[in-house]
Formats: sequence, structure tokens, C-alpha cells
Amino acid sequence: MTEINITEPVLLIRTKELFKLGMSAKELYEITRGVWTIGKDRERAEYAFCVAGGIVREIYKIQKWQPAGTTHYETRAMQDANTKDKWLGRWEFIGEVAPDKIRNKYIGKSVAHYFKRGNANPINYVNIKNVNIKTGIIDLPTADSDELEKRVVALLNVPNLEKPVGVNHPERREQTLSVHERDPKVKAWIIKNANGKCECCGADGFIKEDGNIFLEVHHLRLLAESGSDTPQNAVALCANCHRKLHYAKDKEQMRKELIECIDRLQEE
Ligand SMILES: [Zn+2]
Ligand SMILES: [Zn+2]
Repeated sequence: MTEINITEPVLLIRTKELFKLGMSAKELYEITRGVWTIGKDRERAEYAFCVAGGIVREIYKIQKWQPAGTTHYETRAMQDANTKDKWLGRWEFIGEVAPDKIRNKYIGKSVAHYFKRGNANPINYVNIKNVNIKTGIIDLPTADSDELEKRVVALLNVPNLEKPVGVNHPERREQTLSVHERDPKVKAWIIKNANGKCECCGADGFIKEDGNIFLEVHHLRLLAESGSDTPQNAVALCANCHRKLHYAKDKEQMRKELIECIDRLQEE
């Protein structure tokens, strides 16, 4: 038996005792499309392979996933299918028979090598990566803020971006960060010296819970770029100006203007 190497993102679904030789097309589809305990990665698979005896029997292009029992099963017994409460939390897909170029490649071939011995899970994920197959974008949650920003920027370019479900309980990740020590005397002096006003736009800082005025202290040459933590390199800013100095298109222009306008500041 030829062992095949699958190149598409697919689910191998072992239909086990539900499979009988000589089943009709409808029967095959119905034993493959449901009903499964399967996680969110299901959305990343393009095809579902009906597997029995380690052999690919049929292939479906997955159109969508829905809660099990949403669509009636015609060829499966009532005790097996169509008993919704038994299926709570399970899923089924809606799909159509895959194009011949996919079917010809895989049907009748062995995929037994994809299943590890002792793995009882009927479903095996193959080539399911972080890439969302609908958008082609890596869109999984991440704790890495640079990576998060990259994914956000990519998603901003998706036309008709769907409203996401989101994550009710985001994963916690430990992180080791290397940060610079900051001198509290510099920060306190810069804030007092600003007298409650943003040194960039002149707006009043807001009053904090503790009665002090809120301003943020920004280093014109970032500490990460070997800037100094001194009054010559630090300004008190409102939150909006601070963000602008980090992210605005004209941030370099803003930086230069601050250095020109405020005597204390020096180019580093
Ligand atoms: Zn401001
Ligand atoms: Zn800053």
C-alpha cells in the first residue's frame, strides 16, 4: 500500500465501526461530517478525509462547522444521530466532495502512518498551522507584543474583517523581560517642572486618584537606543502626545521641534 504525503491542511477522520464497504455517497458523507469532539483548530482545516482501515475512502472540502445536530442526518439511526443532547459540545461540518485533483491524489491510499500507535483520537490534524485558511494570516493569540502588532497590522488589511468571538479566559504566559533602571528623581523633577501641562501640546494632565497630575515621561532618545535617563533627554507629555512620539508618522519632526523649543533638552 502506498503511503502518501499530504500537503494540504486536512483532518483525517477515522470513521471506525461506522464505516462499511459499499456505503452510498450520502452514507459516507454523513459518517464523516459528524459528530465530533474537536477544538477550534477545526476552522483551519481545508479538507476532511474519511479514513477507514487506514485508507482514505472519500474527501470533502469543508465549507463550515456548526454544532452537532444542526443539520439532519438521513442515513444514520436515531440513537446514533439526531439526538442533540447526547451531542452537546460536539461539532459537525457541512461540505462537498473535494475536487478530483485532490481525490485522485489521496483516495485509496494509506494514511496509517499519520496515526501514532495508541492514539485513540479519531481525528488527526495534518498541516494545520497557525495560518487562518480564510485570510491566509497568522491570527492566533500571542503574548509577544511585537508579534501581536504584526498580526493586527496584517488583519487591518483584510476586507470585511468578521467580528471575532474573542477569548473569554486568555492564556497567561511567563515572560522574562530586560528593562532599564530608571531614576525616580529624574521622573519626579520632569513632572514637577512641567507644572501640570504637556510639554508638547500644552494640554492639562488629568488628576489622578491620589490627587497628583498625570503626565507621562518620555525619553527623546529611547533608553533602548542607549538614550540617557537625564533631564536633557526626558519630557513630560500627555498620553496622546506620548503615543504620537512613539508611533506617529511625523514623530521624528515632533522630536526635533521639542528639542528646538525646550532649552533644557539636548540631542543625543
Ligand atoms: Zn500633549
Ligand atoms: Zn516614551
